[in-house]
Amino acid sequence: MDADTKEVHRLIQILVPVFNEEGSIDTFFRGIAPTIAAVTDRYSGLRFEFLFVNDGSRDRTVDAILNSAERTVPAQVLTLSRNFGKEAAITAGLAEANADCAIIIDVDLQDPPEVISEMVDRWVAGAKVVVGKRVDRREDTLAKRLTARWFYGLHNSISNVKIPTDVGDFRLIDRAVIDALNELKENGRFMKGLFAWVGFPTETVEYKRRKRAVGESRFSAWKLWSFAIDGITSFSNAPLVMWSYIGAFISATSIAYAAYIVIRTLVFGIDVPGYASLLVGMLFLGGIQLLGIGIIGEYVGRIYSEAKRRPPYIISEKHETRAVTDKETKSRSKAT
Ligand code: UDP
Ligand code: MG
Repeated sequence: MDADTKEVHRLIQILVPVFNEEGSIDTFFRGIAPTIAAVTDRYSGLRFEFLFVNDGSRDRTVDAILNSAERTVPAQVLTLSRNFGKEAAITAGLAEANADCAIIIDVDLQDPPEVISEMVDRWVAGAKVVVGKRVDRREDTLAKRLTARWFYGLHNSISNVKIPTDVGDFRLIDRAVIDALNELKENGRFMKGLFAWVGFPTETVEYKRRKRAVGESRFSAWKLWSFAIDGITSFSNAPLVMWSYIGAFISATSIAYAAYIVIRTLVFGIDVPGYASLLVGMLFLGGIQLLGIGIIGEYVGRIYSEAKRRPPYIISEKHETRAVTDKETKSRSKAT
């Protein structure tokens, strides 16, 4: 053992949600192998394992994982019975994780695997959560960057749980934090918010977000929009409560206007009633009431789905393979 090798007898699971990613798997393993080799060289006794959550893929993603010639450490694959979405996939992975810590990473290499090295260093030094912060999102589309900025701004201004800006799911979380997250039984799982809600001392590692290595984003504009609504309604009551204030404002204004009309009539006599102002007032109020009802509907819908107590995901299959290529041993012997 060389002088700068530390004894750390612990297991790290790399948690990867995958949805129709057969084409990304080999690239992913190839991209992450050098980091795993470097970290395991630095800490003797530290072991890595992959925990994939196959989020109802309709292609051969599972075979690609189990049979890849590029994979250097063992892998488990949980298959969900259909596509439940990335949040549910992460929830499933955390519920099944049995390691001392988990690192959540996308399969498309947009979260650079090299960052893991620093995350593990911080964790060994005592950090409970190490988040990856994107300092450069040039590779994301302008629309995505703008909507993300508005979303974080709005969310954090009306919610008690503040989500750090430009921090995604790419993070390392200690066992204690995994256990805390598994205690949260809500069914609509906005993970970014839940991560922030459980707290724990958090350290940040900065990185540049890359281009997707293979294929296209699995998120449509509509999926992102629903995701944003989920985030806000999961962590803030402001959209519900604001209607009392809007109502109070409108009532106060109408009382003032009524007083004005009475006084004007007393002073100047009877005026011709305004058809246009009447119509505008009516339409305005009708619109605002519908908006208020719609927002209440959002929350009632959420109460309804929580009340049904359906699980956020269903696991239909589990696969596990210990077999790995000899690349790991090769890279190890090169290093020693
Ligand atoms: N993903 C998933 N379920 C989904 C959509 C995406 O498990 O319904 C996975 C996907 O395979 C990838 C990660 O979540 O590993 C991030 O997806 P993507 O790169 O499409 O999202 P973006 O980078 O555009 O946010
Ligand atoms: Mg991506």
